[in-house]
Amino acid sequence: MDKSETRYIFVTGGVVSSLGKGIISSSIAMLLLARGYKVTIQKFDPYINVDPGTLNPYEHGECYVTVDGHEADLDLGHYERFTNIKTTRANNVTTGRIYQSVINKERRGDYLGKTVQIVPHITDEIKRNVMLLGNTGTYDFVITEIGGTVGDIESLPYLEAVRQLKWELGTRCLCVHLTYVPYIRAAAELKTKPTQHSVKQLQQVGIQPDVLVLRTERDVPAPMRRKVAQFCNVSPDAVFQSIDAPTIYQVPLMMHEQGLDNIILAKTGTIAVGEPDLTRWNAFLHHLGAATQVVRIGLVGKYVELQDAYKSIDESLLQAATYHNRKIKITYINSEKLTPANVEAQLAGQDGVVVAPGFGPRGTEGKFVALRYCREHDVPTFGICLGMQCMVIEFARNVLGLADANSTEIDPSTTHNVIDLMEEQKSVTNLGGTMRLGAYDCRLREGSIVAKAYGRLDVEERHRHRYEFNEAYREQFEQAGMHCVGENPLTHLVEVVELEGKRWFVGTQYHPEYSSTVLNPHPLFMDFIRAAIETTDSHDNDNNTTND
Ligand code: GLN
Repeated sequence: MDKSETRYIFVTGGVVSSLGKGIISSSIAMLLLARGYKVTIQKFDPYINVDPGTLNPYEHGECYVTVDGHEADLDLGHYERFTNIKTTRANNVTTGRIYQSVINKERRGDYLGKTVQIVPHITDEIKRNVMLLGNTGTYDFVITEIGGTVGDIESLPYLEAVRQLKWELGTRCLCVHLTYVPYIRAAAELKTKPTQHSVKQLQQVGIQPDVLVLRTERDVPAPMRRKVAQFCNVSPDAVFQSIDAPTIYQVPLMMHEQGLDNIILAKTGTIAVGEPDLTRWNAFLHHLGAATQVVRIGLVGKYVELQDAYKSIDESLLQAATYHNRKIKITYINSEKLTPANVEAQLAGQDGVVVAPGFGPRGTEGKFVALRYCREHDVPTFGICLGMQCMVIEFARNVLGLADANSTEIDPSTTHNVIDLMEEQKSVTNLGGTMRLGAYDCRLREGSIVAKAYGRLDVEERHRHRYEFNEAYREQFEQAGMHCVGENPLTHLVEVVELEGKRWFVGTQYHPEYSSTVLNPHPLFMDFIRAAIETTDSHDNDNNTTND
């Protein structure tokens, strides 16, 4: 298609953060895709980190990884889960990346003696990046979520770039502004003033939003929405509400029912043809709502109190459970507090256990305790990245008898370094963007649990790690029953281990959770949940027999 027809939709946020701009952006993308348009979706973040890879989960939740090895904002995970679009480095840009690029150009002399300034050089670089994907001529719509909240100092260059683009692109450009309508309990009233102020702030920097989405805990009545439209210079049919939903996957439907996709098409001069095909999405939601029986999964990790630290794992578990007609009940188990004395009490009620990824020694001893319990009690267990490495270490210690076995990340002086730094990592000094990142091929062993789960032998999965299974110990593990059933076909790095004679005891060096989506749940999560359900069902049957 002609790039001069590509439409640009910007999604900004006002009043407070955490309103779910990522979910609204994803919902718009999903609805346009379901209407048959070609869509991509990107996030621009106003912080100075070049990418979020160097941020810890306390700062910014989970770090997501794209196929091309970019450490990305977790909203890209939402984008992929809602749309099945495989995002890349081009879909996530930070202020740090913008400045890095401008400063590199300045050092090369590209600015020919000019004074380099925020306006126009930084704003031009933002605009160039915003249009990078659109200029390929591939997309009908490019959706750009602007991180942060309108009114923040650091958002200003982005808003100036949006202002210029709106002016230059005319009706091919649209701004959706997401705000908050609080309910004041003492007055028993919803309040629209923060929304009015937030729109004024946008207007002050020269942007007139075209569409408003009001986040709210209670129904915002039509007259109140009309009032907002009137005070904010927005047409009455372009004010929507996004009321708290039982699941984020309901949001696209709520938006569609109110006509958000129609308004976006109308306002960008796109002729709407037919209705979006939401058949499969609706089927998923139907399963989600209809499930009554529960599958209980214990997630062992050190960031238990953080809502977003294991976002992709949470969503992958929910998706898989839904397709098995179960409600998911995830219990976060703090690995720092797990001991041989309390492990039974904490894990006994779980149908399956996931041992989480992570960095550094904190909480790893508790992961070993959990893994020993799960191995000895044949609990379906899924170790992911550090979780897989811990599986290997626990097995080395308690089955192979290598008492001080460890990863050199956790104990650099261990005599049994069953997990060790990858050769190519030994010379790395910079921490940002230097791990083994992104999608790599993996060849699975015929007849293994994982090969059966995938239904094929060649897979490609995303990575984010520096350490690996130490090849020198492979034979010892194989002989004792921990099989290396997945490896990189070129480098022979071990990618998957599984334990023979167990229901489901699998560790992956890669992160399957990054590629599980609503419409394509990941085969390993599907098979893990199946095994967890079968385990409980067999327990229930045992109980029934005893009762009889
Ligand atoms: N810290 C481990 C490594 O770097 C595991 C990383 C992870 O769990 N993502 O190899």
